[in-house]
Amino acid sequence: MHPKCTTIKNSLTTNLQSIPWKSFPRTFQDTIQFSRKLGVKFIWIDTLCIIQDDEQDWREQAAEMASIYSRAYLTLAATSSKDMNGGLFGTILPQYEGKGINFVIDDNIIKIYARQRLPHLEADLNATSKAQEMPLLERGWILQERLLSQRILHFTRNELLWECPTSSTCQCAVSDSRRSSIATLKQRFHTPKTTSDSNDWHRLVELYSRLNLSFPRDIFPALSGLAQQMIAKVPLSGGYVAGLWQRTLVEDLLWTVDPDYPVKRRPKEWRAPTWSWASVLSPVKFPAPETKKYPGDYDWQYLKYIRVTESHIDLAGKSSTGEISKAALHVIGKTCVANVQYSTRENVEFWLQHINTYQGQQQIDRWDRFSPDFRINDKSSPEFVENGSEVLCMDLARVEPSRHYTLVLRKVEGEKNTYKRIGMIRDVGIQLVNDHVEKAIVLV
Ligand SMILES: [Zn+2]
Repeated sequence: MHPKCTTIKNSLTTNLQSIPWKSFPRTFQDTIQFSRKLGVKFIWIDTLCIIQDDEQDWREQAAEMASIYSRAYLTLAATSSKDMNGGLFGTILPQYEGKGINFVIDDNIIKIYARQRLPHLEADLNATSKAQEMPLLERGWILQERLLSQRILHFTRNELLWECPTSSTCQCAVSDSRRSSIATLKQRFHTPKTTSDSNDWHRLVELYSRLNLSFPRDIFPALSGLAQQMIAKVPLSGGYVAGLWQRTLVEDLLWTVDPDYPVKRRPKEWRAPTWSWASVLSPVKFPAPETKKYPGDYDWQYLKYIRVTESHIDLAGKSSTGEISKAALHVIGKTCVANVQYSTRENVEFWLQHINTYQGQQQIDRWDRFSPDFRINDKSSPEFVENGSEVLCMDLARVEPSRHYTLVLRKVEGEKNTYKRIGMIRDVGIQLVNDHVEKAIVLV
């Protein structure tokens, strides 16, 4: 990191006059030289163009990201570079260098070159090798930069890769854009739409939740450009509600922590209400159609059990898609009471034992697998949930053909009818609460 080569309040005046070439880190120098060769005179670099220690400027510029990236002539991505000193241009690894093999055919020696197949973005790389080969793609901020840019050129260690709304290709020409979920989303994002499609947003949030943010509070700002694009392109999406959409609110509440990843603690600093996917640090999952493979059209249905009567969002800044300071949902739904049970049986860590559950007139003993949103048994956390704690279950929705989603909530002490989400029951065979009365609560 070159401390001189960022714009801060103190260096703004001098930076506006000139910045010595030597103070630029290698990636900036390479990028400036490459842009000049393309005949492009102007360049946007976040750390230079946003005053890094000015919160107001940062918030204003972060809100402009959608227009900055979507209107750029070309976005250059130092995809294989770990930081700003890595440079744009990579050195090819020995296994990817062509090796000549001599063949003798009719007394003529013919040399044929062969090399190992190059790795290509998501399609060929697992999580570990992607982090090593293409560290830039692991960063939370990069998703909207990739999706919003009209044209993006990735400088990887071995070759150049190209992404635009209609194509993604590479120098060795084996990259297959159809296999990349980003390429599909990019195409869909740049196609004008008249209806809102919660599936696109869900796939996008799933990808985003797998990326890393240096500052957890950037969770909304680093996605703000894409949220604004949704507002502009999909007028029916309604208001933005802490990473969810007013119009598809119940569908958007159906996220669960992805069971393929270890469950993490909650972020140390509050950044989102517990009903938002942004309240957890783990990768999340939304229901996905089973009969049709993504991408495509979806012919499935939601049966909503709850009604959202009000939503309140207090913004931290001016941007309606940026950081928030407080949020609440007023919902009405059927509820029942259960106990959290720590367990080791059937490889299930937590069960919920329901209290006073009836089938017709008969009381039944009912247990459900419980997927917490965070490490509820972490004693050092303020969110610790003791074994045997009482929770409230509220049926949320049924996703056809027969998956049920039930919110698991914990009462906020000292506040009337106010609850926090702590997890979800998924895949129960029958609707959980059939005889219970409706209850109006506030979710925070
Ligand atoms: Zn290639």
